[in-house]
Amino acid sequence: MSYQPSPTRYQNIEYRRCGKSGLKLSALSLGLWHNFGFVNDFENSRNIIHTAFDSGITHFDLANNYGPPPGSAEEVFGKILHSDLQGYRDELIISTKAGYTMWDGPYGDWGSKKYLVSSLDQSLKRMKLDYVDIFYHHRPDPETPIEETMAALDLIVRQGKALYAGLSNYNAQDAQKAITILKELGTPCLIHQPKYSMFVRDPENGLLDVLGNNGVGCIPFSPLAQGLLTDKYLNGIPADSRVATSGVFLNESHITPERVEILKKLNGVALQRGQKLAHMALSWLLKDSRVTSVLIGASRPEQVTDSLQSLKNTAFSNEEINAIEAILKQ
Ligand code: NDP
Repeated sequence: MSYQPSPTRYQNIEYRRCGKSGLKLSALSLGLWHNFGFVNDFENSRNIIHTAFDSGITHFDLANNYGPPPGSAEEVFGKILHSDLQGYRDELIISTKAGYTMWDGPYGDWGSKKYLVSSLDQSLKRMKLDYVDIFYHHRPDPETPIEETMAALDLIVRQGKALYAGLSNYNAQDAQKAITILKELGTPCLIHQPKYSMFVRDPENGLLDVLGNNGVGCIPFSPLAQGLLTDKYLNGIPADSRVATSGVFLNESHITPERVEILKKLNGVALQRGQKLAHMALSWLLKDSRVTSVLIGASRPEQVTDSLQSLKNTAFSNEEINAIEAILKQ
């Protein structure tokens, strides 16, 4: 049966302004790093997208290398887009990135103009799109002059292949440099995508200040630490979890007795707030007004619906903040 988006999709979700730009993003966005490759069940991937869009999630995040195999997430997403979301392109914010290894030879990685321009052309073909909304440089390149990488982002935006430029995995100092260059070029940086969760606090060491001071949005990735910050690992490793099924970036070595102890205590604080641990982990990021949207992943549609519960309570008392910090310091 053909898919019809829910007519009430914009009624129950918050949209937040991205820095000082004109663009608003849904408070939760959906990332397609896992569960959208050729190796995954297509109908499940499709249902995840439907559930997200039906819930008011407008932003879908990809990268050239998502899969596996690399590139397949963009192809799968393109297929879903063209079969089910024809006519809804103007309601979607689609992003992709380049910066990690994508093809052999010296032009398939890092941050040269050659790589970024070619990679985006490939991404557009895979998704069968004329343009993406946001194009990111995926990680800083210590060898390519930052001026060249930023000039490539500026060029891509001027060519109309992307509407906005973004950065990912840049530290505070490099982000400031890149933001200044992009501003001078006349293509302001829209957004930064850092790894940020209760377990990964690096953005608090200057990056969030840089973004706030420059009017650049922030969209934390892996907000659940790939599923650790949920109640699923409290009593062992479920067979359908990322640790059991993927095991590449998250594996058994991450499920230590010490970490499970911390998760159990955090779970206790969440329950006192009337939330599940996953909800609290997402709310905890959204309490900071510099955070535009939180970029979740999902292995099934129900997780999208569940994670949206986090939007019901994003306020934290000082006691709750202190209790969480005390647990995380253990
Ligand atoms: P999360 O930390 O949100 O982890 C997602 C995983 O957690 C799911 O696949 C699922 O795993 C589990 N999960 C999700 N929701 C729930 C829930 N409500 N209850 C229980 N378990 C849940 O994010 P990801 O690590 O997947 O990253 C999100 C996105 O961020 C990526 O898709 C990508 O777009 C982006 N990203 C960007 C990077 C960059 O360098 N810029 C790097 C990495 C990610 P399970 O399989 O166990 O069910």
